[in-house]
Amino acid sequence: MTVIDIGGGFRPSGAMRPAIHLIGLPTDVNSSFERGAAKGPAAIRAALVSDRGNSASESGLELGTDIDLVDCGDLPLTDLDVEGDDRAIAAAVARAPLPILLGGDHAITYPVVAALVARHGPLNILHFDAHPDLYADFEGNPRSHASPFARIFEGGHAKRLVQVGIRTLNRHCREQADKYGVEILPMADFHASHVPVLDGPLYISVDLDGIDPSEAPGVAHPEPGGLRLREVLAAIHRQTAPIVGADIVELNPARDIGDITAILAAKLVRELAARIALNHEGESR
Ligand code: MN
Ligand code: MN
Repeated sequence: MTVIDIGGGFRPSGAMRPAIHLIGLPTDVNSSFERGAAKGPAAIRAALVSDRGNSASESGLELGTDIDLVDCGDLPLTDLDVEGDDRAIAAAVARAPLPILLGGDHAITYPVVAALVARHGPLNILHFDAHPDLYADFEGNPRSHASPFARIFEGGHAKRLVQVGIRTLNRHCREQADKYGVEILPMADFHASHVPVLDGPLYISVDLDGIDPSEAPGVAHPEPGGLRLREVLAAIHRQTAPIVGADIVELNPARDIGDITAILAAKLVRELAARIALNHEGESR
C-alpha cells in the first residue's frame, strides 16, 4: 500500500490522537444488479481532498490538524479470487488500528468485521441502509452484497445489529432478522433520537443507499423515502462508545449527479473520523 497523508502534511497538534487509517476497497464483484462501486474509493478520495470543501468536521475537529487521517490508498484486489481478496482485506484491517473502509460494494463489510472481531471480540454494529442485507444467499452467491450480515451472524461476530433506514424488507429477510435478533428501526416515523446509544466495541456501516436518492443518487439501488444525511449524522453523533472501525459503501460514480454523492460520502468520512477520535478519548463535543 502506498501511504500518503491527507491535509497538506499537517500533523495533529495538542493532545495526540491515534491515527485513523483510510483504506479503499475497489471491488464490486459481489454486486447483484449493476457493477460500478469499485470506482467509489477514488471518487470519495477526490472529493475529500478537493478545495471545493475544507477539512472541518461539525464537531470543530479538523482533518490534518486535530485528526491524523492517514490515507493508505486502495488495496489491490483481484475480483477473481474472492477468498484471496478477503484475506487481503483482513490483513489490511489487521495493520490499521482504527480503519475507515471505502467500498466497494457492501460485501466488504463481512471480511472487515471478521478481522476486527479477531482483535476486539464480537461487535455492536450500527448499520445504515435501504436494505437489510440478510439474504442467506442472493442469486446463488452467499458472498453477495445482499448477504454480508447473514455471514456476520453465522460467524458469531455481532452482539447487536441495529439497522436504520430499512424500507425494502421482504418475507425472507424478515425471517432472517427474527432468526438473528436484528433490531430494525422502521423508516416510517423515523427520528434519530430513536437510535439506541450502543455499547462498544462499536462498528458503523453506511450503505449510501440508506440515504434518500434526492441527496445520494449515485448508488446502484436507489430507494425512495430514505434518510436525510442530517438524520444519519445525528444518529452517529449520539454514539459515545469506542468505535473500532467504520465503512462507507456502494458509491457508484457512474450514477452520480455532479459528484454530490461523492461529496456527501467525503463529508461522512470527516464526521466519522471526528466521532472515532472523540469517542476514543471519551470527549463529548
Ligand atoms: Mn443498500
Ligand atoms: Mn447494503
